[in-house]
Amino acid sequence: TYILGIETSCDETAASVVKDGTVIVSNVVASQIESHKRFGGVVPEIASRHHVEQITLVIEEAMKQADLQPKDLSAVAVTEGPGLVGALLIGIQAAKAFAFANQLPLIGVHHIAGHVYANALEHPMEFPMLALVISGGHTELVVMEEDGRFEKIGETRDDAAGEAYDKVARVLKLPYPGGPHIDRLASTSDGAVEFPRVWLEEDSYDFSFSGLKSAVINYQHNLQQKGEEINPSHVAAGFQQSVVEVVTEKTRRAAEAYGVKQVIAAGGVAANKGLRAKLEMTFKEANIPFYVPSLPLCTDNAAMIAAAGYSKYKAGDFAGFDMNGRPGMPLKSWN
Ligand code: ATP
Ligand code: MG
Ligand code: FE
Repeated sequence: TYILGIETSCDETAASVVKDGTVIVSNVVASQIESHKRFGGVVPEIASRHHVEQITLVIEEAMKQADLQPKDLSAVAVTEGPGLVGALLIGIQAAKAFAFANQLPLIGVHHIAGHVYANALEHPMEFPMLALVISGGHTELVVMEEDGRFEKIGETRDDAAGEAYDKVARVLKLPYPGGPHIDRLASTSDGAVEFPRVWLEEDSYDFSFSGLKSAVINYQHNLQQKGEEINPSHVAAGFQQSVVEVVTEKTRRAAEAYGVKQVIAAGGVAANKGLRAKLEMTFKEANIPFYVPSLPLCTDNAAMIAAAGYSKYKAGDFAGFDMNGRPGMPLKSWN
């Protein structure tokens, strides 16, 4: 079963063909990062325009690299939400046109389900599973009792982890997106500033990162007023240590409380070297299998959308041609 996946929720235009939800046949990603860099973040109107320019080429390229004809496909899966509405609509319109022209069924995929199913492309998913979703817009702990079932047990009460990385990077005058730059500074730093850990209530699986972000900003202001220079590496390392410690500890606690067979990490911040290392070490000690996708499958791509689409395809969960972009789409089970 071959599924064409399409992703345009933010600033990458992506298309991919995946076989049986597990094997990447082609995977094309056109990133717009360069166009948004000078604005220090994603500009929605610019994102939409880029998607319009790129989407047909990217889909064509994915089909060409897969060396398949549309008739070889079983369905078209596209990101329905959440994301920028104008960006989502470009992918959805392209998916509808492709599906209609080739008489293929259409599947609407939740972007975060996509990030989770990136794991299916690299190892068998086993249930019950705990997913740590950690990306530019989300920081959540999700228990999956089985394929296509999601129960959110914790989430951020303010900023997402990726958002905090990008804001702290801006304070340190690092280019957008800041996550990878902080990661690099932190991993080569010879010291770390001590920043608070935000645990919230005992037993809570929720997260909060805005206080940590403020602590970094205050630290910088205080030094500035004393006429002292901040050491960006020490700030990056201290910030990262705080994020990594809290995220890892809450994930471990949840994994043990829910007795899961497998823990996975998903989303752009799961590309973070420090976080990956700490999670790997922690779950090795706890004796719970832990997986995180390879770097290109952590950040936005369409293979993950096709992989999640395959699970919905098996469940017979198809979309109508009236599908609309849903910027605030909730993560719902399909099994
Ligand atoms: P969402 O998936 O929640 O809708 P998004 O699609 O914008 O948001 P992703 O593409 O999944 O987010 O991830 C992008 C985020 O990941 C950015 O905030 C970026 O700074 C962060 N990121 C990428 N690489 C790293 C890294 N090595 N360390 C920390 N953060 C990283
Ligand atoms: Mg992105
Ligand atoms: Fe994403």
